[in-house]
Amino acid sequence: MNTEAPIVIVGTGLSGYTLAKEVRKLDSETPIVMVTADDGFSYSKPMLSTGFTKGKEADELAQATSEAMVEQLNLELRTYTTVTGIDPDAHELVLGDERLGYSKLVLAWGADVIRLSIAGDGQEHVHSINDLMDYRAFRQALQGKQRVAIMGAGLIGCEFANDLRNGGYHVDVIAPSDTLMPGLLPSPAAEAVRSGLEDLGVRFHLETVVKHIAAEGAGVNLTLANGEHLQADLVISAVGLRPRTELAAAAGLETSRGIVVNRALETSGRDIYALGDCAEVDGYVLLYVMPLMICARALAKTLEGERTEVKYGTMPVMVKTPCCPTAVCPPPPEAPGSWEVDADGQDVRALFRGESGEVLGFAVTGRYAVEKQALSKEVPPIHN
Ligand SMILES: Cc1cc2nc3c(=O)[nH]c(=O)nc-3n(C[C@H](O)[C@H](O)[C@H](O)COP(=O)(O)OP(=O)(O)OC[C@H]3O[C@@H](n4cnc5c(N)ncnc54)[C@H](O)[C@@H]3O)c2cc1C
Repeated sequence: MNTEAPIVIVGTGLSGYTLAKEVRKLDSETPIVMVTADDGFSYSKPMLSTGFTKGKEADELAQATSEAMVEQLNLELRTYTTVTGIDPDAHELVLGDERLGYSKLVLAWGADVIRLSIAGDGQEHVHSINDLMDYRAFRQALQGKQRVAIMGAGLIGCEFANDLRNGGYHVDVIAPSDTLMPGLLPSPAAEAVRSGLEDLGVRFHLETVVKHIAAEGAGVNLTLANGEHLQADLVISAVGLRPRTELAAAAGLETSRGIVVNRALETSGRDIYALGDCAEVDGYVLLYVMPLMICARALAKTLEGERTEVKYGTMPVMVKTPCCPTAVCPPPPEAPGSWEVDADGQDVRALFRGESGEVLGFAVTGRYAVEKQALSKEVPPIHN
């Protein structure tokens, strides 16, 4: 290993920048090089689905330019630079024709949006929004438009639906499931959010999918599998994310649903670590901010020589649907138990109780959403 080589962090999303900040709190000098395929602006990704609600343009959601981050963190930053391979034996990253040596390598390169292959000539009107550059392009395309169709009724689809309604747009949501956020919310809570969004004017087309997207005038005509036709100016595709694993797998690192790391965030490759949306940490793929913050703090210590394992607590998720405030902490998959539901219109308190009556998960909406903090204390942490 070349110990003179820098620590290299790939990715300038919340994972990469939070890690760099945590390292700098412990050590102001060790050379760090960050490499990113994008413009290196620092921003909080959760804010992308609140632009209209908060009255902010894409550029106002950016917190700092790449130049400001270089100065703040005393590091070298290579923007618009795509990693094309890893050579673990040589301790080198491959950047097209170039190679970059590392002493330690951190993969913080996020997740890819899943793109559906749908017939029709209207594809240029379909936007996936997974970073600030995507959001800028979307806001640009939205100028002078009124109608947005959203494919997907998961957390991100629902948040954009609420936000776009707050911005005055007509919103149709199309999804194959029969409820919103399946897999995240139990159905009474999902119904509450649906009712809140419908009251706001969102139209749902559930248990169907978009089969064809035809260009029509300046927008599109969508044909749904149930025979319906919808006109829209723009389409958001929010059908899910997949951790980026291909380059890691090609380099011989162990991957599964994400890049496999242990609780010290070590991959199967020597001196290579991963965190954030690309990582599967001790079997968990959690595409949220709280886990990546915990990982960044632990990994900074490890990189500084004090090997530190992550300890996940409870991981409640706030769904940013202000029309029906919602918080959820899903029970462990396969946990024996059942939901106990207290519902009054859009106010739902659903507690998942284990066999001895202990609370293992919850979903709270409407006026019960304020109970998130108290309930989180009742739910056992992921790692004891
Ligand atoms: C609209 C939206 C709303 C959300 N709201 C919430 C919320 O309310 N609460 C919550 O907890 N979570 C939320 N999330 C999820 C959360 O934002 C993500 O989990 C988190 O931001 C992921 O950060 P990351 O740094 O791991 O990945 P990313 O932010 O995706 O960063 C990946 C970085 O890697 C770079 N990169 C990728 N491939 C390469 C390559 N080959 N070479 C070089 N660079 C590369 C990219 O350019 C980028 O800089 C939301 C997500 C979205 C999309």
